[in-house]
Formats: sequence, C-alpha cells, structure tokens
Amino acid sequence: MAEQARIGVTGLAVMGRNLARNLARHGHPVAVHNRTSTKTKALVEEFGHEGTFVPAESAEDFVAALERPRRLVIMVKAGAPTDAVIDEFAPLLEPGDMIVDGGNAHFADTRRREAALRERGLHFVGTGISGGEEGALNGPSIMPGGSAESYDALGPLLEDISAKVDGTPCATHVGPDGAGHFVKMVHNGIEYADMQLIAEAYDLLRHAAGLAPAEIAEVFRTWNTGRLESYLIEITAEVLAHTDAATGKPFVDVVLDQAEQKGTGRWTVQTALDLGVPVGGIAEAVFARAVSGHADVRNASQNLPGPSRAKVEESGFADAVEQALYASKIVAYAQGFHEIQAGSAEYDWSIDPGAMATIWRGGCIIRARFLDKIREAYDADPGLPTLLKAEHFAEAVGAAQDAWRQVITTGVRLGIPTPGFSAALAYYDSLRAERLPAALTQGQRDFFGAHTYRRTDRDGSFHTLWGGDR
Ligand code: NAP
Repeated sequence: MAEQARIGVTGLAVMGRNLARNLARHGHPVAVHNRTSTKTKALVEEFGHEGTFVPAESAEDFVAALERPRRLVIMVKAGAPTDAVIDEFAPLLEPGDMIVDGGNAHFADTRRREAALRERGLHFVGTGISGGEEGALNGPSIMPGGSAESYDALGPLLEDISAKVDGTPCATHVGPDGAGHFVKMVHNGIEYADMQLIAEAYDLLRHAAGLAPAEIAEVFRTWNTGRLESYLIEITAEVLAHTDAATGKPFVDVVLDQAEQKGTGRWTVQTALDLGVPVGGIAEAVFARAVSGHADVRNASQNLPGPSRAKVEESGFADAVEQALYASKIVAYAQGFHEIQAGSAEYDWSIDPGAMATIWRGGCIIRARFLDKIREAYDADPGLPTLLKAEHFAEAVGAAQDAWRQVITTGVRLGIPTPGFSAALAYYDSLRAERLPAALTQGQRDFFGAHTYRRTDRDGSFHTLWGGDR
C-alpha cells in the first residue's frame, strides 16, 4: 500500500507549492495534487529531497493517499475555481473529513460552503493565510475558522508550520465558519491603510521637505529601529534605496504610479458599510489606489490650479511625519479591530481580538512590534471599546497630535494629498468631540422626512411640526 499522507494540498501554484514544502520540511508526509499534473511532477522532482511527498494524478488517488480523518487543503484561485474543486472532492470524502480552504475567499462564500458541507458531515475550514509565497514556505500567519473539533485535528499541524514569535505560534482558532476569512480580510484592509500611510509619509518627505528617495530610505531605516518597526517599513526602505538598473534612476521614479488591487481591501470597506462600522482610514486607502488608477481623470486634471510648493524646513519635519504616521496607524488598527469586533458580534463568532494581534506578530505582511501593544491592551481590558482608549495608544496619540495636525496642515498648504492622515485625524477628532453635528443632521431628517429624533433631556422619539407647506 502506498504511503499515507498526514495532510494533502491541491493547487500547486506559488502558495500551494510552498505550503506543501513547508509541511514536508516539518516532517509531515504531504499528498500533492494539481489540476495540471505537470506541476505536481515538477514539485516532487525539484523539492522531493525536502521531505515526504506523495504525488497524486487523480482526485481519487489524492483522497486515497490521506490518512483518516482526511485533511485536504485547497490552494486554488478564489471564487468559482474553489467551488469547482470542492464539488470534485467532497463526494470522495467521508463524514469527519476536513476540507481547508487556504485561498483568499470572501467570508460569505466560506459561510455558505461551510453550511453546505456540514450537512454532509464534512468540516469546512476557511483559513486565512498571510505572508505571500515567502511566508507560505517559511512560516505564515494562519487564521483558521471552522469548527472547534476540526481545529483539534488541524491546529497542531498549522501551528507547527506557522511563524513563531517568542516561541508562540502565529496560528490560532479564530472562530466558527467564516471567522478566519473575515479576520484575514480585515488584516488585508489594515495592510492597505498601513501601506497608504507610509506612501503619504514618503510623499511629504519628498515633496514638502525635498528629500531624495535614497535619503528617505535612510529616514525609514531609522524609523525601523523605533516604535514603527515593522516589515512594511523595512521593505519600504529597501524599495526607496533601489536604483533602476536600466536607467540609473531611483526605482520609485520609473514605476507607473497606478496602484492595483485584488479585492480584499474593497471587501473590508464593503463589509464595514454593511456592519455600519466607520473605517474611513481604510476606505481612503482603497480609494487612493482607485484615484491613482484613473489615468483619464488625472490627465484631464493636470492643469487645475494649486498652491506654489515652497519647501518646508527639513529640521524636525521628518520627526513630525513619524508622529503623524504613528498616530494614523493607531487609528487604522483601531478601525480594523472595531470591524472585527462588529463582525464577531453580528455572526456570533466570539473572536478574541488580542489573539488576532498575537498571530499577526509574525509571518504576515503587517507584522510589527506595535502588535505587542495591541495584545497588551486587550489583555488588560478584553472589553475595550476602541484601541484609542487603551493607555499606551491614548498617550501616544495625545503626544503626537500637534505634530499630526502640523503635518496635515503642511500637506494642505502645499497641495500634497494626505487622504489617509487626514481621514485618521478626522476620525480621532470625531471620537473626541463632545457634540457632533449629527444633531443637525437629525433635525434635517425630521424636517424633510418626519424621521423623528431623540432628545438629550428626555427618552422617546420626537417629531417637530415644521412650519410652511411640505
Ligand atoms: P492562483 O494563481 O490564485 O491559482 C492558481 C492555482 O489554481 C493553480 O494551481 C491552478 O491549477 C488552480 N486552479 C485554477 N482554476 C482551477 C479550477 N477550475 N480547478 C482546479 N484548479 C484550478 O495561485 P496562488 O497565487 O498560489 O494563490 C492560491 C490561493 O491563495 C488564492 O486563493 C490566493 O488568493 C491565495 N493567496 C495568495 C497569496 C499570494 O501571495 N499569492 C497570499 C495569500 C493567499 P492549474 O495549474 O491547473 O492552472
């Protein structure tokens, strides 16, 4: 009888291939399968020495190669291909078997698939995997949803191949059904915001302070030794220091300035709209990519007037930008965690936000020193209504707010767009405000639509008989 594999991976493009290698390198015999079998053969030929791979050409052979209960990981293109692969394998499985979807599925699809497969006695485990191809190979951050029972069987394997920080695995059971993919979605939304804020910091240092890309790379390297230390800051310095071999120009100057996106940032914002959670900082990051991509509208706007761009004094400006970046980043995370808590309440997932901060500390794109502070904040108060109220963050934002305002003012004065910084500050000021002009909005709604309003001094709903013919 052929060797039994502890787990199987179908879908051997960059992610699946590296995940299978990661499993094999950790001593777990892994069955491998791909729609196009040349990829399966190539994997075993090239990396067969790294561990035990059990190649399978057909779906039947693949399923037969798995020890029971079967653990089958799908790493194919999200959407219709994932449904096609589930339809192909589910009939070959038995009650108690587990299908793990490691693709970037929308959590609503995961909920639908989980419910359908549960009826057939199968566990469907929608799993967020972050860290790109490098993470998949050397240790990603892993966010599995699905049943607690499936985590008993899968958890040890996933924790084994995940990144580790201070000996703690960057993998944990997030919650039932679509919770894992929901959290991965918000992770990506936060990633969009983080990247946009870093891009704005670069833009200000370049066009307000007049620094060259190589000089800005040095600024980022310095920041990476402090509280902003993170993977994204580290790679930003690398990108800015890079020179284009063909032209000898700074690499950043030869790249077309139109940012692309695959959809998880957009989903984060769409879902936040459905849940009624304000995530303006994340939304502005998604819209900033959209603005950049509308070449036609941008071309038509090239001659619109703007202010003269007299440069600011460099001394102290980089420090002010660092403070604006840190404060804005805190807001982006506060918004993302608010969305996680709202999703958890809506779908009854009981997600532990501190545990999410813990598993994002390594392996994933937003890994950062900062996440320890978030974990500490939720450890100290699991019911924290917003991260901005946690002692560390309240103090940090309070100390940064003058510089934050100064940096945004500089951007406004010089005509340098700061949608991320500005949206974050507006959110901060909205939360702080004792009274919001929402009272006036309510008055308007009552005036034109008799929508009623509540009062500050009495319980109940009220409607005013407004004068004039309506
Ligand atoms: P991908 O380009 O998204 O997908 C290619 C794989 O899907 C190939 O194995 C392909 O098989 C298979 N496939 C496509 N349609 C299929 C169908 N109808 N039936 C069966 N197989 C089908 O690959 P990837 O970049 O490795 O990503 C895999 C998943 O991980 C995706 O959901 C992606 O969103 C997610 N993810 C990717 C990253 C990343 O950094 N790339 C990070 C996190 C998560 P053939 O070889 O036969 O064409």
